Formats: sequence, structure tokens, C-alpha cells
Amino acid sequence: MLPSFELLMPETLPEALEMLAGYAPDAMPLAGGTNLVPDLRGGKRRPGVLVNVHGLDALQYIGRQDRYVVMGAGVSLADVLESELIGAHGRVLQEAARVFANPLIRNRATVGGNLGNASPAADTVPPLLVLDAELKLASAGESRWVGLEDFFVDVCDTICRHVELITAVRWLVPPPRTFSRFRKLTLRKSTAISVVSVAVRVTLGESGRCVDAAVALGAVAPTPIRVHEAEEVLRGEALTPEVIDRATRFACTAASCIGDVRSSAAYRERVTDVLTRRLLAEAQEWSEEQWERS
Ligand SMILES: Cc1cc2nc3c(=O)[nH]c(=O)nc-3n(C[C@H](O)[C@H](O)[C@H](O)COP(=O)(O)OP(=O)(O)OC[C@H]3O[C@@H](n4cnc5c(N)ncnc54)[C@H](O)[C@@H]3O)c2cc1C
Repeated sequence: MLPSFELLMPETLPEALEMLAGYAPDAMPLAGGTNLVPDLRGGKRRPGVLVNVHGLDALQYIGRQDRYVVMGAGVSLADVLESELIGAHGRVLQEAARVFANPLIRNRATVGGNLGNASPAADTVPPLLVLDAELKLASAGESRWVGLEDFFVDVCDTICRHVELITAVRWLVPPPRTFSRFRKLTLRKSTAISVVSVAVRVTLGESGRCVDAAVALGAVAPTPIRVHEAEEVLRGEALTPEVIDRATRFACTAASCIGDVRSSAAYRERVTDVLTRRLLAEAQEWSEEQWERS
């Protein structure tokens, strides 16, 4: 059963921020409710006040601003999947949206809610980490941009203050000759939480060598993580099997895998190896095609 709470229905973003400030720390934003409503039913969260931000116009856009792709936090996973702009400049995020839950949840669930919930298995996070995304945190009268890598503190814990709302996400349009992909392993084909997820971004230089790289893992640690050691291995190198092997081994070492209801720690470590290796091998094939074309 749902516990009792007061539901506030702001019509504008400034109104929503005033409400959060007025009732802090007892108020929480409610977006699609696909995490929050089950959490309320299960007694995991007990806010006295919910501020409904779902459908606020100011949070519903995907566009290009200067060198950035920017989207409002209220954008749904279905919107991400349909966006041509994200397809062109954030394919890795679109791949995560494609395997996110099921069509019903994708229509309702928002990117802001996925980030704000701060699950280690949140599927938008590894893609946004490899895109070097930033989040806009707004409170009544002020706002700040923070790097996504600095946002998560622990399981379901972030630097977002009670009076703040994630209002937007942005990342720089990746340079030409950038490859970015996402894979996750789940216990069934849809409507399933990731056992392990991996995102990879590789940018090639004129010589065909990797000039920039990013590797991120989900569901293997208290928060999604970037694996900087693996990225260092890739930078400046051609993507050979030896380089891929070394980078993959760093990814496995970085993953402090835990055992839980979905998987043993040993199986998670094995899956981290397989998915990372596969994505980097795809990047290698892609880099060879680029080289042949040029
Ligand atoms: C059947 C099912 C399948 C699922 N499958 C997946 C999956 O495949 N991958 C996956 O990653 N997740 C999955 N989820 C989890 C969930 O759907 C996502 O995390 C979703 O993106 C949450 O978004 P929401 O809009 O529903 O957030 P809500 O449930 O409304 O909110 C979630 C949390 O974020 C906070 N919040 C919401 N908006 C903001 C904001 N703008 N700023 C700050 N905090 C905010 C809320 O206060 C709350 O703490 C699944 C859930 C269900 C029920």
C-alpha cells in the first residue's frame, strides 16, 4: 500500500524549485514514478511531500546549443530512442535506451529519474559517462553544472541537495571518427535490470590510432564507474588484440564485483571481461573499416 504524502503539482520549473525549497528536506521530486512509486510501496522512501515534475515544459527538449547536445531531464527513454540528434551524436545512449526495460516503461521513465535514483545499474549512466556528460543542478534562484563522474557518491546517493533538481544533461558533440557503443547482460531479454553493463567510446586520429577513449561500467560497484586505467592503455595506440587485452584486464580489476540476487561476484567479473573485450573488438573492426575507406 502507498503511504500517505502530499502531492504538489507545479505548473512551471521555478514553481517546482520553490516547492522543493519550501518543504526541504521532506520533499522529493516525482518524475515518471517507475522507481519512486515501487519504493514508496515497499517502504524504502517515506517523503512527506512529492513535487510532481513530470511533463514540465522546461524539462522536455532535446537540442543543439553551440558545441553541445543538450536535453531536459524530463525527456523519456522513448524520446531518447526516437531522437535523430542523439542517434547522430550519442549513439551509445540510444543503444542503452533500446534495451531499457520495455516500451511501457520507456514511455514513462525519464533520464532525470534514472540519474536521480542513482542505482549502480542505471542504464543511462555508463553511456553518459563515456560521453563526458555534465548535469545541470538547479535550485530556486541558482544553478550549477557538474560532471557526471562527480555526481554519484554511493548506492542511491548523489551530490544533488534536497532543494536541487537535475534540469538538464549535456555533452560535447563528439569529433568525427568516433565510435561509441553500449552492451548489457540481463537475466532475461527485456524488463530486466543489468547484471553488468559496459559503454565504450573511441576516437581515431589521422593515423588511425586512438586519440581519445572512454570506458565505463555499470552494476559492478556501488556507483557506475569510468575505468581511466583502461583508457590510458588505449590512448595513442592502434587497437590491436594485445592492446584490447590489456585494457580489458584493467576493466576487470577496476570492477569491485559484488554477489547479489542477480549474479555471483565471479560471474560478474567474467561478464565484465566478455562485454568489454567484445566492444573493443567491435571498435577494432570499425577502425579497420575507417582506415580502408580513407
Ligand atoms: C519494470 C521496470 C523495469 C525497469 N528497467 C530498467 C532498465 O532496464 N534500466 C534502468 O536503468 N532502469 C530500469 N528501471 C528503473 C526505472 O524505470 C528508471 O530508473 C527510470 O529512468 C526512473 O525514472 P522516473 O522518471 O520513473 O523516476 P522516478 O521514479 O519518478 O524517480 C526516481 C528517483 O529520482 C528522483 N528524481 C526524479 N527526477 C529527478 C530530477 N529531475 N532531479 C533529481 N532527482 C530526480 C526521484 O526523487 C526519485 O528518487 C525499471 C523499472 C521498472 C519498474
